[in-house]
Amino acid sequence: MTIQLIEHNLHEIAVEGRRVLFHIPTSALFELDPVGEAVIDALRGHQTLESDDLNSVLAKHFDTNQVSDTLDEFRQLNIIIGGPETTARAPAEITGEGLTTLVLNVNTGCNLSCTYCYKEDLTTPAKGDLMDIGTAQRSVDMLIKQAGPGARVNLVFLGGEPLTNMKLIRSTVAYAEEQAIVADVKVDFTLTTNATLLTNEIIDYLDSHRFGLTVSMDGPKALHDRNRKTIGGKGTYDVVAKNVRRLLSRYRSRPVGARVTLTPGVTDVHAIHDHLVGDLGFHEVGFSPATAGDNDIFNLNGQELADVFAGMKALGRLYMEGALRGLNIGFSNMHQLMTDLHEGTRKLIPCGAGVGMLAVDKDGKFNLCHRFTGSELPTFGDVDSGLDKAALSKFVNDAQDRTNTDCATCRIRNLCSGGCYHESYARYGDPLHPTYHYCDLMRDWVDFGLEVYTRITTEKPEFFAHHIEPRRAT
Ligand code: SF4
Ligand code: SF4
Repeated sequence: MTIQLIEHNLHEIAVEGRRVLFHIPTSALFELDPVGEAVIDALRGHQTLESDDLNSVLAKHFDTNQVSDTLDEFRQLNIIIGGPETTARAPAEITGEGLTTLVLNVNTGCNLSCTYCYKEDLTTPAKGDLMDIGTAQRSVDMLIKQAGPGARVNLVFLGGEPLTNMKLIRSTVAYAEEQAIVADVKVDFTLTTNATLLTNEIIDYLDSHRFGLTVSMDGPKALHDRNRKTIGGKGTYDVVAKNVRRLLSRYRSRPVGARVTLTPGVTDVHAIHDHLVGDLGFHEVGFSPATAGDNDIFNLNGQELADVFAGMKALGRLYMEGALRGLNIGFSNMHQLMTDLHEGTRKLIPCGAGVGMLAVDKDGKFNLCHRFTGSELPTFGDVDSGLDKAALSKFVNDAQDRTNTDCATCRIRNLCSGGCYHESYARYGDPLHPTYHYCDLMRDWVDFGLEVYTRITTEKPEFFAHHIEPRRAT
């Protein structure tokens, strides 16, 4: 029988002298034993090898039963095969059930004018289009109805700046809480804010409804003020930092995170993290490198992006050192990667957009996610006529079909799965185009994550029970 190694299903990394196999189809990690190492070494470099030839090479060092057990295991893992692998997947059917998150774009207006903002429909608060209460209530009805008794759903308020439409937020929260009791559904609320409009009264209101909060903030004053400005062009650091301090001193219900947009000149990941976590006291910080906005001035070029990833790895090492002492330092990009590896995440599509999550724009139309509201991409039905299930099923099926792209055999395809639809849309005009502009950096980042994951699993396995499993359970 002819044996062949399926290279695109395995990726090897060295961790402190040990050879660890990343099993790409399942995102699982295995430490290779000497027989496994010898099998892979013997097969590597050959298109195919007859099993008799393989056995005769290995018989000098290993028992034939050991070799045959290893070959069986590798066959089950689909890393060796007698012929080409088939990657056919069952088509997905979007039924409208399984939606767990609905994002409401409550106002296209924002009280700031951040220079890099990606929103196509963004305007000032005075000119902003506010979502009306009926649209918000019909969105809630749809989310709760399809979830069914016992389910848990998440209602997200975004803008523009969502706090410019507190009237709608308060009435929608009250309505959702009432309807959730009737339907026996648990509803959580989430909001991302620039923090400039936070008052004690608003903070306490959000706290009493257990809002999950994220603040958009770009680090210390010199970095934050480069892009995050008022409509009149003034930096907003002073007011944001003051409000954040107040927020963090009185917010009790859930940890609060920060989200940073990295742009040219705002790339010092370590200093930004240090300020936001160390000085201000955020629970965690997530970084989004700008690579595909409308305005090229704010997109990181190749070298800047490489520097950003180098900075992310340096911070990732601090994350690892913390984890080995049982601490989570609050670096959400790394924490998400550890969570994906720990859970053996196998993504057929890059994110939940269009499947577990949809965004409703001010007119009640369904968009793939919050970033698409106001864009030219066709919408998928609306809260009055219902979800356009056929169009959404087609989109999701097309997204899963990576034939004739580099993603088909990419070693991180089950973690990246082609990258963010909106980045592709902004950069290539096609949400299904793979985000080719930083594949090598992404692969290197995942390799780094595998190394970190292996170290933590070996030296401090309880870190995952303390810091990842509870996070999922809440
Ligand atoms: S976009 Fe690039 S990194 Fe992501 S799966 Fe495709 S080829 Fe791999
Ligand atoms: S498409 Fe991009 S921005 Fe939208 S939810 Fe997915 S990853 Fe996020």
